[in-house]
Amino acid sequence: MRTLSRLCLIAVAIVVGLSVTAVISQSALQSLERPISGSSSILVVTAHPDDETIFFSPTILSLRQKHLEVHLLCFTTGNFRGIGDRRAVELKAAVAALGVDDQHLVIVNDTRIQDGKQEEWPLPIMAERIAAEVSKRHIDTVVTFDHKGVYGHPNHKACQEAVRVYADGCARNAEGSGTCPSTWQLFTEPHRKFMGAVTIIQTAARCQKLHQACYITPSVVGTMRAMTAHASQWRWWTHILSKTYVSVNALDRLPGFEQDRGAAQASASELSMRDAFAQDGDVAPHHASSRAFHSARRARALHTRHSLQVSRLLRQLE
Ligand SMILES: [Zn+2]
Repeated sequence: MRTLSRLCLIAVAIVVGLSVTAVISQSALQSLERPISGSSSILVVTAHPDDETIFFSPTILSLRQKHLEVHLLCFTTGNFRGIGDRRAVELKAAVAALGVDDQHLVIVNDTRIQDGKQEEWPLPIMAERIAAEVSKRHIDTVVTFDHKGVYGHPNHKACQEAVRVYADGCARNAEGSGTCPSTWQLFTEPHRKFMGAVTIIQTAARCQKLHQACYITPSVVGTMRAMTAHASQWRWWTHILSKTYVSVNALDRLPGFEQDRGAAQASASELSMRDAFAQDGDVAPHHASSRAFHSARRARALHTRHSLQVSRLLRQLE
């Protein structure tokens, strides 16, 4: 009997110890948060039901804890396996668990924008839809994926491209009036096989140093409730739990397509300058202009990556 009592005491001590550690770790993590300044009404743009939970829940929960307005624009019902209706219902429950008003949820579900890696999503139509929601909901901040789309999913990448198309169009129409929302992208974390509390704390610390904004989940319970709502996706459960995105979101300002075009022009001009030096037999390419050369090479790499995409989109916008 005495042994049993001792075991019970030890068990209670372990539970209390773990809880205290969790609270201390959580508060240490919270101190690393770096919110987007000046935001009061935020639109999160995603591709599928569950993206908002497994990738953006730290941002959404943190903003809601500060009583800021969060809106969600999800382009599909996630109907790739024919269970779109069920997943749309799950999305509504998850959004409620994240503390977002159901009036702030938009599921686009356009026949031209459907779930699937092989689908080519029409960026101008997506950009128009984003513009309409920004205007209707008085959005001052838009958050979406980065160009890697967390794990390279083309639908995620299309969300990022559509926000960029929208942002460039808005900037052109606003002509410096400052009326366009700021646009942000979720940094794709490097893949790690093993994730634990230490890795999450390291990720949060790195985020604070290297990124323009960081959100740390303020409520593990809120994240768990939202994840539970996506019951049809439960095969992801153990996999997702080990990822940093449910704990930390690192965000950076989204580059515009115009910015890429500027880099491409700089590249062309710097490279032609280097070629001129080289033709004249000048020693400058190896000394004074070496920084310009490397800068030009970086810009040319950027241009190569985006040039086809940029020209196609700019043609569509004109
Ligand atoms: Zn997705």
